[in-house]
Amino acid sequence: REVILSVKGLKKHFHLGSGQVVKAVDGVSFDVYRGETFGLVGESGCGKSTIGRTLIRLYNATEGSVTFKGDDIYQLKGKKLKEFNQKMQMIFQDPYASLNPRMTVLNIVAEGLDIHGLARGEERRKRVIDLLKVVGLNAEHANRFPHEFSGGQRQRIGIARALAVKPEFIIADEPISALDVSIQAQVVNLLRKLQKEHGLTYLFIAHDLSMVKYISDRVGVMYLGNMVELANSEELYGHPLHPYTEALLSAVPIPDPDASKKRERIILEGDVPSPINPPSGCRFRTRCPKVMELCAIAAPEWKEVVPNHWVACHLYDKEQK
Ligand code: SF4
Ligand code: MG
Repeated sequence: REVILSVKGLKKHFHLGSGQVVKAVDGVSFDVYRGETFGLVGESGCGKSTIGRTLIRLYNATEGSVTFKGDDIYQLKGKKLKEFNQKMQMIFQDPYASLNPRMTVLNIVAEGLDIHGLARGEERRKRVIDLLKVVGLNAEHANRFPHEFSGGQRQRIGIARALAVKPEFIIADEPISALDVSIQAQVVNLLRKLQKEHGLTYLFIAHDLSMVKYISDRVGVMYLGNMVELANSEELYGHPLHPYTEALLSAVPIPDPDASKKRERIILEGDVPSPINPPSGCRFRTRCPKVMELCAIAAPEWKEVVPNHWVACHLYDKEQK
């Protein structure tokens, strides 16, 4: 499998006026394979959106490296940078906030075509109308404004805008969280269909584990700026290793009544600590039901415990077994 995106030791720290440092992302490593959907999950504030924004260069990385098709994305210049800005697109959580209310759908969807000089005049209009059809809208929608659409339709406009420049990689930051449940599956199905037809790779950011399971090939679980577990979907949902993943999964309703007997709801005590002063050692230790003495002293290593299944937890240290 071809690695299209490789993230190594990524850190993104924000310096506050007070001199404090928010360690929003604090040493995260993972690869994304071409054509897959990589789900990134965790509670709000865990750093998943910051990762998305850092990967698309809205932020610079504080430390670590990100390579896209073999190139360090922070070193890109000229033609290569332009190509990156075209091949990597983002879909946002709030389709209303991310669409300019004063622009027609035609001009919104054509934005990328304009920026990259891909089409003009009648060709531009034709491309936009084709894209609207691809996402389930129609030609009459082109001259309307964002407020004339429902949330689901607005997200379709956002998807058409991203698709316009023929991307290879789409970062979708909670693309369905703001939508009615009845609309969520429609948008997910559209994303899946587009993935197949255009060979797209997705980084799908979400806090809803059930939807991530449905759409993702592999899933990375984030907690307080760290990735704590990474595996393919089936493996992660069937055999979670990290106590945090276990707790998150215990809150996901299981349709099979037999399986629900086996999975007891784990309620985590306390709040997520501040990323300004994260706990020493394992950052999850203040809420972990399986915490040990060692957990306060040393940060657990990120290691491949079973083939292709990575976890950061002292329960899986060799000497513990
Ligand atoms: Fe819990 Fe310790 Fe594992 Fe952290 S390292 S998840 S505190 S058992
Ligand atoms: Mg977010």
